[in-house]
Amino acid sequence: MTSWDTHDNVHVLDSGLALVTGPASNWVVVGTGDSWLLVDGGYPGDMDRVMASARAAGVRGLPEAVLLTHAHVDHVGAARRLAADGVPVWCAAAELGNATGETPSQIAPETAYAKAAASPLWGAWVHHAVAAGGLESQRLRPAQLRSFAARAGNVLDLPGHPVVIPSTGHTPGHTSFQVGPVLVGGDAVVTAHPTSPVEGRAQLLDAAFQDDYEATTQAAQRLCEVQAEVLAPGHGPALEMSAVREELRSAHVPVDL
Ligand SMILES: [Zn+2]
Repeated sequence: MTSWDTHDNVHVLDSGLALVTGPASNWVVVGTGDSWLLVDGGYPGDMDRVMASARAAGVRGLPEAVLLTHAHVDHVGAARRLAADGVPVWCAAAELGNATGETPSQIAPETAYAKAAASPLWGAWVHHAVAAGGLESQRLRPAQLRSFAARAGNVLDLPGHPVVIPSTGHTPGHTSFQVGPVLVGGDAVVTAHPTSPVEGRAQLLDAAFQDDYEATTQAAQRLCEVQAEVLAPGHGPALEMSAVREELRSAHVPVDL
C-alpha cells in the first residue's frame, strides 16, 4: 500500500467518469473541464492523490462539490480539506449525524486493534489506516454540508446528474449512485479490501465495518437489480455488473439471493 501513481490507478469507465483506486479506498471523478464532481475522497492522507488523479482524469480546478456515499474517514479525507476551501459536501440526510460527528458510526479503534492482533491482514490495514490519517477527525461542520433525500431515483443537480440509490446498512445513510452506465456503490458491495483475502470479486466488508449487517446484505441484493453495466466500488477494482450479480450468488459472500 505504499507505491501509487495515477497511471495505474485512474480508470476511465465512461466518458467523463473515472474510478480512482487509492492505496486503501477509492474515489470517483465525474465531469469534464472545470465542471466536475468528486465522489468520496479517500483518507486525509490521500488529498494530494485525489488532486493528482483529477488532473490525470482531465479536469481542472476544484470540484463543484464532493458527494459522499458515506462519512467514514477513508471516504471523507479530501472532502474535509476541500470543504475548508469552500467546496460544499453532499450526503444523504440520514448520514448528516455521521458526517458532523454528532452520531458517529464507524469501527471503534479498539475493535480494529483487537482484529489486528489476531490477523496479519488487519494488522497491515490498521498500520496503513493510522499512517493515512485514519485517527484524524473526519467531522464536517453543518454549514459545509448539503443533504439530499435518499429517495430511489432522486436525481441530484450535480455534474453527471447522479441518481440516488439508497443502500443503508454499512452506515445509517449510506447511499449509492448511478451515473450513466456506472454504479458508484460505495461500501455496500466492494471487490477487495486490505482486510479481505479475496480480491477482484464482489463481496461484503467484514461485519465489524457494518452498522447493520443484515441491512447491508439487503442493500447488496437491491444493487444487483440496478440496470448498470459496471460497478465502481468503494474498495477494489471496477467489476462488470454481470460478474457482481453472479458472484453475490456464490458461496464466499453470505448474501442469500
Ligand atoms: Zn465505509
